[in-house]
Amino acid sequence: MPDRPRVLMCEPTYFGVEYVINPWMQGNVGRASQARAMTQWRDLKSLIERVADVSLIPPGPGLPDMCFTANGGMIFGSRFVPARFSVGQRTPESDRHRQWFADCGFEVVELETAAAFEGEGDALWWPGPGSAPLVWAGYGVRSVLEAHRDLAVAIHAEVVSLRLVDERFYHLDTCFLPLPDGRLVYFREAFDAYSLAEIERRTAPDQRIEVGAEDALGFACNAVRIGDSLIMHHASVELKARLAAWGYDVHTTPLDEFLKAGGAAKCLTLLLQQAGYSSSVPGPASGIRSTTVSMTGHLLDDHTLTAVLEVITSLGGSFGVEQFRAGERRDLPSEARIRIAATSGDRLEHILEQLDGFAVTEVDPSRNATVVSVGSQGVAPDNFYCTTIYRTEVFHDDRWLPVQHQRMDSVIVIGADVREARCVLIRDLAVDDLVVCSSEGVRVHARDLRAAQREFSFMSAGVSSERRTEGLISEVALEMKRLRARGGKTVVVAGPVVIHTGGGPHLAELIRNGFVNALLSGNALPVHDIETNLFGTSLGVDLARGIGVNGGHQHHLRAINAVRKAGSIHAAVQSGLVTAGVMYECVQAEVPFVLAGSIRDDGPLPDTLMDLNAAQAAYSEIIQGADLILMLASMLHAIGTGNMTPAGTHLVCVDISPAVVTKLADRGSVESTGIVTDVGLFLNVLAAQLRE
Ligand code: NAD
Repeated sequence: MPDRPRVLMCEPTYFGVEYVINPWMQGNVGRASQARAMTQWRDLKSLIERVADVSLIPPGPGLPDMCFTANGGMIFGSRFVPARFSVGQRTPESDRHRQWFADCGFEVVELETAAAFEGEGDALWWPGPGSAPLVWAGYGVRSVLEAHRDLAVAIHAEVVSLRLVDERFYHLDTCFLPLPDGRLVYFREAFDAYSLAEIERRTAPDQRIEVGAEDALGFACNAVRIGDSLIMHHASVELKARLAAWGYDVHTTPLDEFLKAGGAAKCLTLLLQQAGYSSSVPGPASGIRSTTVSMTGHLLDDHTLTAVLEVITSLGGSFGVEQFRAGERRDLPSEARIRIAATSGDRLEHILEQLDGFAVTEVDPSRNATVVSVGSQGVAPDNFYCTTIYRTEVFHDDRWLPVQHQRMDSVIVIGADVREARCVLIRDLAVDDLVVCSSEGVRVHARDLRAAQREFSFMSAGVSSERRTEGLISEVALEMKRLRARGGKTVVVAGPVVIHTGGGPHLAELIRNGFVNALLSGNALPVHDIETNLFGTSLGVDLARGIGVNGGHQHHLRAINAVRKAGSIHAAVQSGLVTAGVMYECVQAEVPFVLAGSIRDDGPLPDTLMDLNAAQAAYSEIIQGADLILMLASMLHAIGTGNMTPAGTHLVCVDISPAVVTKLADRGSVESTGIVTDVGLFLNVLAAQLRE
């Protein structure tokens, strides 16, 4: 008996819609039933087990999408190519996949560049005979075209790229089902004209089925094919009949809980063999070509940038905005650097010809960045390159060096052994440090144009005082639960208003229950927190009754003095002086805190760092590796922290003033959600939701 096919699945133990990373999730956060999902998954698994063996990868707490194993990577022979997720929420799944496949004896092969690649979600094997075997690969929403070139190199097979143009069909496997013998099923509207032409060139009309919107939206293309069996969530009568005429047994099984997260049958499986794959027969070399161009002018006001991007996409190319610098004044020009990729050299040439009229110049990628050594300690050479929050690489000594400790408003120093580059503040420069002094040879991975546009249109994606605050808070609560479950890192930055508005006990509860991994603040929050514990007041106001008490104005000074006498906040807790509150819980739960001083400070407390350079360094150290930073009613500390946070960390800024939230976006912290509300109320609702 021939070996049965093998399929990888992952039990949806931690499944839920906990964030929004595709249009299907919009409005469904917190609305998927895990129990129902489990039943549906088991039914799917039973159907698959009739025709294949199922292996299971253990699910991960805090990784609600890990059950969608198709996105974990792709198998070719004995090689596993892991995904590089484009969305931070799913990135931690990759290490689990790498480990599982390595343990099972697969060779783990990484793609060469850092371009996003989301596994079988965007790369589908098309076996012969009837057609030459190849991989159909999707790009345009999640995966990046340049990853297709790396994939072709890694697996020695031809990769045909298809551009996805409808965000609902964000992965190729949601709208495209390749079948053996040169056949396929697809949803036309999900592709651009070039991709449709490619599909039509490679398949005869009677070998392809175009599904309608009903089947497409029912995820009919997201089917598991094993032998002659096709298993899917939904298929119309007509589609079933056409597939039956091709010799397929079509089984439908309800998967609507998973549809709320944008996935169905195929997404829940990863094939552990590709029929007809042989690495000994090298496929044709990938035709994908790319280049970088730069342009200068009034790019936003005149809509030039939009026009350029239109030209690239309408001619079948793809782009990534590597760098965008807005003119500092309206009359000053902006600069942009754009990476353009196309499926062939000819197409790239054609795009570049069409861009001639836009004064676009090709950047020579092989030019080393200019470096100048530091002459005086703490002084950068003229023309130093100033960093952004985005992941950056420097071309030095004929190779790209990734820049470590990414943050904005610093310079890039090339390490002594020339193997690393890192962000350094001007004040920390030492004599002879090599500082990058050009933007040539510097590559910035701004996530996409929308991010760059948000940054410079002084808007933040999530800021809205009109959106229902409660809905936003429940999204934050789910994210915090998920992070706690998977050992992620949540940092809270908070000001004294938290205590004045009665939010102290709620923040204390969050810390006690393990939702906070570090606290950043100034002098005032701990002062008023401890004042509340010792006297029941915050800045002299009785928090229970909401009125000032006689002599209350002295309370905070008495609190400061008591802690000074104890020696430190830790000592004040350990001696039994401080018995509850935010700082008490930090000490008890061993949650690290950094208190940065300011010119307003009374006292200060012995723990408050009055050397601002040291305070900045301590803040910067503590936010390393943070997944979520919750900024609660402190303009000073929120903006200070935002400046040193690299792109990719989710910032949630809660403030009564929309201007503060917007200011955070001005600084380039584009992944920020703004919640305009009273912070006491926010913490009350958040704590209640975390208790559920
Ligand atoms: P800040 O002005 O930087 O930020 C306060 C923020 O709170 C503002 O953005 C404001 O819009 C917002 N806010 C006000 N009421 C709110 C509410 N009900 N809900 C939500 N947001 C609200 O001031 P800060 O961070 O409080 O203080 C700045 C620095 O001064 C800090 O370092 C602080 O420790 C220090 N400070 C010290 C003392 C002291 O030592 N006695 C007292 C006050 C402040």
